Amino acid sequence: MSKTELLDRWTIEKSEELYGIHNWGAGYFSISNQGEVLINPFRDTPEAAVSLIDIISGIRERGMEMPVLLRFENILDSQLSYLNESFAEAIATLGYQGVYRGVYPVKVNQQQQVIEEVIRFGQRYHHGLEVGSKAELIAALSVMKDQEACLICNGYKDEEFIDFCLYAVKLGLKCFFVIEIPSELDTVLARSEALGIKPNLGIRLKLSAKAGGHWTESGGDRSIFGLNVTQTIAIVDTLKEKGMLDSLKLLHYHLGSQIPNIRDIRSAVLEAARVYAELYQEGAPMGYLDLGGGLAVDYDGSNTNYVNSRNYSVKEYCADIVEAVMSTLDPTSVPHPTLITESGRMVVAYYSVLVTDVLEVEKLENYDLPDQPAEDTTEQIQNLFDVYRSLNLKNLQECYNDALYYRDEIRDMFKHGRISLRDRSFAEKIFWNIISKIATEKEKLKNPPPDFNDLGSAIAAIYYCNFSVFQSIPDSWAIDHLFPIMPIHRLEEKPREQAIIADITCDCDGKIDRFIDLHDVKRTLPLHEMKNGDDYYLGIFLVGAYQETLGDLHNLFGDTNVVSVQINNDGTYHFVRELHGDSVADVLSYVEFDPKRMLGRFRGLAEDAVRDDLITPSDRKEIMDAYENGLRGYTYYER
Ligand SMILES: *Cc1c(COP(=O)(O)O)cnc(C)c1O
Repeated sequence: MSKTELLDRWTIEKSEELYGIHNWGAGYFSISNQGEVLINPFRDTPEAAVSLIDIISGIRERGMEMPVLLRFENILDSQLSYLNESFAEAIATLGYQGVYRGVYPVKVNQQQQVIEEVIRFGQRYHHGLEVGSKAELIAALSVMKDQEACLICNGYKDEEFIDFCLYAVKLGLKCFFVIEIPSELDTVLARSEALGIKPNLGIRLKLSAKAGGHWTESGGDRSIFGLNVTQTIAIVDTLKEKGMLDSLKLLHYHLGSQIPNIRDIRSAVLEAARVYAELYQEGAPMGYLDLGGGLAVDYDGSNTNYVNSRNYSVKEYCADIVEAVMSTLDPTSVPHPTLITESGRMVVAYYSVLVTDVLEVEKLENYDLPDQPAEDTTEQIQNLFDVYRSLNLKNLQECYNDALYYRDEIRDMFKHGRISLRDRSFAEKIFWNIISKIATEKEKLKNPPPDFNDLGSAIAAIYYCNFSVFQSIPDSWAIDHLFPIMPIHRLEEKPREQAIIADITCDCDGKIDRFIDLHDVKRTLPLHEMKNGDDYYLGIFLVGAYQETLGDLHNLFGDTNVVSVQINNDGTYHFVRELHGDSVADVLSYVEFDPKRMLGRFRGLAEDAVRDDLITPSDRKEIMDAYENGLRGYTYYER
């Protein structure tokens, strides 16, 4: 092996570092010696790891198409345990007198399977549920049995919603009715009297503390939900007046999701604990302090207070909360409450991985250009050509400015009919050769001018992948959320392309051109060259929270196939559940088409064609069969 070959030799370790898998993977993901991504739900038994590409091969053999959403049951189990054990550890270490009773907020991933698994795996910790709507409550009531687990009812409630909360209490569930707006109190008291069921009341507090992150508006004075201190006191007075203060048992707040900074979390706990103490001292029995969600996931692995990260660990989060509550209550005689958090993102984010295959790659060509343009070439094109010829390391910025200037002039001339389409095409070739050359040369500069920052993505290869950003990772489109993305095989090879990702929605927003990085946001993702005809698969990781139901039917791409995988301690695995994604007929019926009528109408069109001698009756059969098959088929690219 030559020296340059040696230097250029790629290793698994280089891939680990390049894609940051150990930074964001929380110990669940790694790379095998064969260069494949491994899933390891049991952090302490590395031999139980399973290759993701193996799972995909198995799925393909069974005839399922990409994209596939994989759910790893054991990861959900591990995350739930980790959260509960971390609180238990903080409580034991600090000598806290209360217990922790987490609840899972249904809205974070409402799929029946997810809810059932949370209940099943959470049973040993009495993990409960949080609901924010009637439908969620009705779903929760179908799965909850544990009388030790909490059921927290948030959200804007009508009479029916309130009745369900009360029935839940009567059925023996620890169900809390959280007052979000002052007017709810009268209704709940009236319904309670009518049904003869005493409610467990909670108050949602509007904190003055504000937190950084995407969802800052959930907390703070301006949040739309919750009571300010004046309204809180008014509720206490009304309850006292009606002799119902003994129903007030819980104080709740929710700062917002994905709070990156531990300082914000701490100051909110301190404020809430103070209010809690006062409510107790007002004579309410209390007993429960519910700190809402917000426990963040480190999507980019940078461990910072950047919006897609967090500057604390789960253990620090738990210890800080317990410690902050103790430091506020211990100087008083207020007993330590049961602590509740409504962590959703942390519990489910790691659990799902979306796997997609690359359909095609479009690369910017380096065009072959003549030594000289034709004699009669327009002056502007000649000038652009001169820029191309004179480009060197010293005049990059100048050439860049000139290239843009002449290109715009040439486009203008085309618009006004002064040059031909062929001339313009020649000019565009020169222009892109210039840009490619600048992008290569700028790497040699110590401090490249800021103008060049986006050149990488401008000349990046476009990898067309079989999925829809809008359906599968809507937050990437809506709020520029970053998810870790990487190839799930070939990681022993050096990735030689700088790429951006396009989905198949034909929407110009249907792309990913921002990628995780430890210090910044990367504009391109290193990927492998496609080998003729070989499949190439990418994994989009940490998509278990919020993405599944926020996704929409843009361009009528429907739900993807879903496969749930259970991994055993010995490294074997099996598919516990397979859900076929939406068919074309499914998504069409969501937008009010009736597949039966569509078939009838299309048959009419085909029959008319037979009548007009455009097709034969057997052509008609063939076309009708294809149409029916199309209706039954998957909405994504099928092989
Ligand atoms: C969305 C929401 C949560 C979940 O927050 P995470 O940050 O995902 O844990 C919890 N509580 C309430 C009231 C919410 O609206």
